Amino acid sequence: MGSQWIFLGGNFVKKEDAVVSVFDHGFLYGDGVFEGIRVYSGNVFRLDAHLKRLFESAQSIMLEIPYSQEEMTQLIVETIRKNQLESAYIRVVVSRGKGNLGLDPSSCSKPNVIIIAEELTMYPKEFYERGIKIASVASRRNRPDVLSPQIKSLNYLNNILVKLEANQAGVEEALMLNDQGYVTEGSADNIFIVKNGVVYTPPVYLGALEGITRNAIIDVARAKGYEVRESPFTRHDVYVADEVFLTGTAVEVIAVVDVDGRVIRDGKPGAITNILLEEFRNIVTSDGVACYSSKTNHAVV
Ligand code: PMP
Repeated sequence: MGSQWIFLGGNFVKKEDAVVSVFDHGFLYGDGVFEGIRVYSGNVFRLDAHLKRLFESAQSIMLEIPYSQEEMTQLIVETIRKNQLESAYIRVVVSRGKGNLGLDPSSCSKPNVIIIAEELTMYPKEFYERGIKIASVASRRNRPDVLSPQIKSLNYLNNILVKLEANQAGVEEALMLNDQGYVTEGSADNIFIVKNGVVYTPPVYLGALEGITRNAIIDVARAKGYEVRESPFTRHDVYVADEVFLTGTAVEVIAVVDVDGRVIRDGKPGAITNILLEEFRNIVTSDGVACYSSKTNHAVV
């Protein structure tokens, strides 16, 4: 394997040379937006949806991405090809760029676009076989009217604080509530419950990021004939659910078998959860943008 190439400052640079200025407001203030994207056998899963979310996050914080959505698609595909990757995790970052030490973004003349494509590190297989434990945490989800969870910004402290609480509690993931006590999501994943054969997930306006995996799971569940409802629920509903699972780009679909010490049913990943994971894995190699025209002829730029 040769060098890892990172797209930075309009060029491809080697990993060792991929450094950003300490005056970049992404670093100084978390002023910027990002996306995490998966590539499955050369297919960039739902790239259009990821780029739409990136551009909407940027629009919301008045950050002008210096490329069109089509150009970003090309740059991402080029980064994957240049690194000769088939299955990968892509991180796209657009920061406000270099400015002075004051927080005013108008001192930053040029946004900084970074694309990193890396070999995937999978979650341990046992996590999927046995399911994970989660715990509700004291920190609440950012209120949507204060800092909208729809903005996938470089300011992830809300999520980091709840992850720290989950670590302290000795569980794999946090369950975040909103200021009304309704369930929203995990630190970096959406939550679903299944009750009497119906699949539920919180409406995003309660304070959850509209996950690409969440939407894909809603699609595959409906296509499989399950009723899916986006409706508010509480911790109690989670405790007494038949099945609980989380979704996200990195984690895909993972069963939750224990919530705040309450064992969910028989304490094993649920049947519908397993079906949805399987259905999800059936679509990830075709639903998206193909990086290579043929499996045998990799155009490496
Ligand atoms: N919620 C939060 C807070 C996240 O950071 C993520 C990861 N992007 C998700 C949910 C899941 O979203 P997606 O399925 O698009 O990865």
